[in-house]
Amino acid sequence: MPYLIIAFSFALAGGIVGKIKGSSFWIWFIISGVLPVLGLLAAILYRSERNEVRRQCPGCGKIVPLYDALCTRCGTELEFPEVAIEPESAALRR
Ligand SMILES: [Zn+2]
Repeated sequence: MPYLIIAFSFALAGGIVGKIKGSSFWIWFIISGVLPVLGLLAAILYRSERNEVRRQCPGCGKIVPLYDALCTRCGTELEFPEVAIEPESAALRR
């Protein structure tokens, strides 16, 4: 029984962390509940896509994360850009 309480606490914490990072509460709730310690760590370390700096592919115009070396749509090799597009989360705040 105590295990269930611990698992539930982790699940709740993981869900809240996931939610703060712009992800789904329930996904992280389940992950953290199944893998109490690892799930919560994963939620904390999870990089929110919406807070990622992005740039536009010169080949097809697709918006890709800054750290991508190849465009996922057309396969153009991407140089490190001079201009980055602000994260979606920053754009949404306006
Ligand atoms: Zn492209």
